[in-house]
Amino acid sequence: MQNEKLKSHIRDVPDFPKPGIVFKDITTLLQNPKAFRETLQVLYDRYKGKGIEVVVAIEARGFVIGGALAQMLEAGFVPVRKVGKLPYETHKMEYELEYGTDTLEIHTDAVQKGQKVLVVDDLLATGGTLAATCKLVEMLGGEVVEAAVLIELSYLHGRDKLKGYDLFTMAVYESE
Ligand code: AMP
Repeated sequence: MQNEKLKSHIRDVPDFPKPGIVFKDITTLLQNPKAFRETLQVLYDRYKGKGIEVVVAIEARGFVIGGALAQMLEAGFVPVRKVGKLPYETHKMEYELEYGTDTLEIHTDAVQKGQKVLVVDDLLATGGTLAATCKLVEMLGGEVVEAAVLIELSYLHGRDKLKGYDLFTMAVYESE
C-alpha cells in the first residue's frame, strides 16, 4: 500500500469535531477489507521477525489497527486509554493539547520490564498522544522498538515531540 493509494481510502471531513479541523476519517479504509488488509500487511512485513512482544495502541481507532496487527505478529495487545476508563491500577501521563491538557493511562501490569513494544495509533497530529504513550511504556520498563501510525500531518510537526524514538508513518499530508 503506497502513500497515495492509502490516501485514496481516507476521507476528509471538514469542520469535525470543531470548525477549522479537517478530520481524517479512516472508517472508509476499515470498511474495505482488501484495503485494510493491505495496510496491515505493510505493517506486518515491517515488524515481523523484529521480536515485537507487545503492541500498545491508543483508543479508539488505534485499537482496531493495533488489535489486528498484534494477532498477526503473535504479540500481546495492550490498550492505552483516556483517564478513568481502565478498570485496574494504572500509571498516568499528562500531555499538552492545543488548549489545556489531557491524561492517558496504562495498566501497571500491562508491559513487563525489557519487553519489546510497538506503539500504534491511526494518526500523528501534534504528537502529544504518541509521545505520552511511549513514556507510559517506558515507565513500565518496556522498550519502544518503534511507533507506527497510518497518517502523519507533517505540517503540525508531531515528529519533533518524538525525537529519540523511531517513527514509521504510511501516508504523509504536508498541508491541510
Ligand atoms: P496529537 O496528540 O495531536 O498527535 O493527536 C493525535 C490523536 O488525535 C490521534 O489519536 C488521532 O486519532 C486524533 N486526531 C488528531 N487530529 C486528527 C485529525 N485531523 N483527524 C483525525 N484524528 C485526529
